Amino acid sequence: WKHAPAHFRALLEMSRFHGEKVFLVYEDEHITFEDHFRRAATLAGRLVEEYGVGKGDRVAVAMRNYPEWVISFSAVLAAGAIAVPLNAWWTEAELAYGVSDSGAKVLIADGERALRLASTGVPLIVTRGEAPAGARTFEDVLGEVTADVKLPDVELLPDDPATIFYTSGTTGHPKGALGSHRNLGQSPMTVAYGLMRAVALSGKDVAAAAGTRRITLLTVPLFHVTGCFSAMTTTMFSGGGLVLMYKWDPEQALRLIERERVSAMIGVPTNAWQLMSHPDFGKYDLSSLTTLGYGGAPAPPKLLERITTNLPDRAPSNGYGMTETTALAIGNGGADYHARPDSIGRPSPVVDVRVVDPLGAELPPGEVGELCVRGPNVILGYWNKPEATAQTFVGGWLHTGDLAKMDEEGFVYIVDRAKDMVIRGGENVYCAEVEAALFEHPAVDDAAVIGVPHDELGEEVGAVIRTAPGASVTPDELRTFLTDRIAKFKIPAHFWFRDAELPRNPGGKILKTHLRREVLGT
Ligand code: ATP
Ligand code: MG
Repeated sequence: WKHAPAHFRALLEMSRFHGEKVFLVYEDEHITFEDHFRRAATLAGRLVEEYGVGKGDRVAVAMRNYPEWVISFSAVLAAGAIAVPLNAWWTEAELAYGVSDSGAKVLIADGERALRLASTGVPLIVTRGEAPAGARTFEDVLGEVTADVKLPDVELLPDDPATIFYTSGTTGHPKGALGSHRNLGQSPMTVAYGLMRAVALSGKDVAAAAGTRRITLLTVPLFHVTGCFSAMTTTMFSGGGLVLMYKWDPEQALRLIERERVSAMIGVPTNAWQLMSHPDFGKYDLSSLTTLGYGGAPAPPKLLERITTNLPDRAPSNGYGMTETTALAIGNGGADYHARPDSIGRPSPVVDVRVVDPLGAELPPGEVGELCVRGPNVILGYWNKPEATAQTFVGGWLHTGDLAKMDEEGFVYIVDRAKDMVIRGGENVYCAEVEAALFEHPAVDDAAVIGVPHDELGEEVGAVIRTAPGASVTPDELRTFLTDRIAKFKIPAHFWFRDAELPRNPGGKILKTHLRREVLGT
C-alpha cells in the first residue's frame, strides 16, 4: 500500500474491496462502497486542484447526517487536509466560531447550514438546498466521476493531524480535539475488539458472528465521535451497511429497523430508552436487531433491565469514550454487563487506564479519583489551546475530568463528571448515582440531579424529573422510594416535575447549565 502509513487512506482504499455492497442508506438513497470511493476520491482531487487545499489545511463539514457528510469527510482526509466536522445544531455565531477557530479554508455544507455560514466569507460548497450567492453546488464541484479516479498524491504519516472534532461543550466552550490518522485508522480495531469480547462473552463463536452482515442504524450525529468512529469508519472497515437518519426520531427508527433489517443500533442511552417507550414499539418487526450499543452519557442500570425485558436475547453494550479518545475507550457487554450493569466495563485491549488522586498518584481499587486514559486512540491535543492541552495531557496520560473507581478485576465505574458533583456540607454526592436510583421508579421517565445553592451546606441536592406519560408521583413518595437505595444525605431536598423532555445535546447529555438556569434562574 502506497498510503499504508496514513491509516485513513489505507482504510479508504481497502473499502473498495466491498465494491457493490451498499455502504450508506439515507431514505430511498443507497450508495455503494465503490460509489463512495469514487465520489470521495474525485472530490479530493477537486479540493486540491480547484481550491488549492494541501496537507494540513482545514476543511469544515457542516451537515446533517447525509451521505455527502461521509463523502466529504473521506475526501478531505484523502486530500491530506484536516477534516473539521461542525455541529449542525450550532447557531450562526457558534458556526462562525468553529470556522474562525479552525481557520477553515473551504466549507462543505448542506443548504440550511450554508445560510448560517455565508457571512464567514469562506468558499462554500453546498448540497441539499439552495446555494447562497457565490457558493458552488456539491454536484458542480464534483463534476464527472469516473471509474479510474485515483486518490491525490500526498505524503502522510500516521501522526499527521487528520481531524478536529469539537467536544460537546458540556463543561464550557467546545474545544477542538486534534486527532491523527493513526487515531482514526485504529478506530475500527478498538470497536472490533469490543465486539469480539461481547460476542465471546455471550458464548458465541466470533468467526460465525462475523459471517452475518452488520447493518448499523446510526441514531446520533456524524459530527460527534460516536457516529463517525463507532459507526462510520467501523462500517467502512467491515463492509456492512450504515443507515443514516436526518435526526433522531423513535418512530422513524422503528420503521428503519424493520425495513432495512438493521442488526445494530448505535447511539446514546436515551435512544434505546425512547425506542422502547414508543407506543408503537410492539407493532414493528425488530427480529433482525441483535446488538444495541450506546454510550457518551451515563446509562442507568434500569436501561439494561428494560432491554432484557423488551428486547430479550439481544446483546446490549455500554461504551465509554470521549472526543479526546476517538470514541470508544472502555466498554461493557455480554455476561460482564449483566453481572455489573452499573459499570462501563473494562478498557479496550489497546487502551490503558488508571484512577489517580489530585496529585496524579495512582489509587488502589475501590477508591474514587480521576480517570486517566492512554493509548493509540488518544488524540494529539487541543487545537490552538496550549494551556488546556498541557493541563489535560500529562505525561502521556489523558485526564478525563471524570471521577471513577476501578474494582479488583479492572471494571471501571464512572461515579460522576468532576464538574457535576454536588458537594453537600462537605459530603460528595454523585449525580449519576442519584439519577440511576431515580430511574428505578416507574413514574420517572428521565431525571437530572443538580446542586442547589444553600447557605449552610453550600449545596443541596435537587432533582428535575420528567414523569412517564400518564404517571404522577409526589416528592415524598420519591423520597421514601430512595430511602432503601441511597444514603439519606443524597436524597434530593428539592424536586421539580415536568412533562417536557429534559434539554439534551446531540450527544445525549443533559444540559445542566440550561436546566439550572430554568429552575433556579442562575
Ligand atoms: P466538554 O469536554 O466540552 O465539556 P463533553 O465532555 O461532554 O464536553 P464529549 O467528548 O462528547 O464532550 O463527552 C465525553 C464525556 O461523556 C466523558 O468525559 C464522560 O463524562 C461522558 N461519557 C461518555 N461515555 C459515557 C458512559 N458510557 N457513561 C457515562 N459517561 C459517559
Ligand atoms: Mg469533555
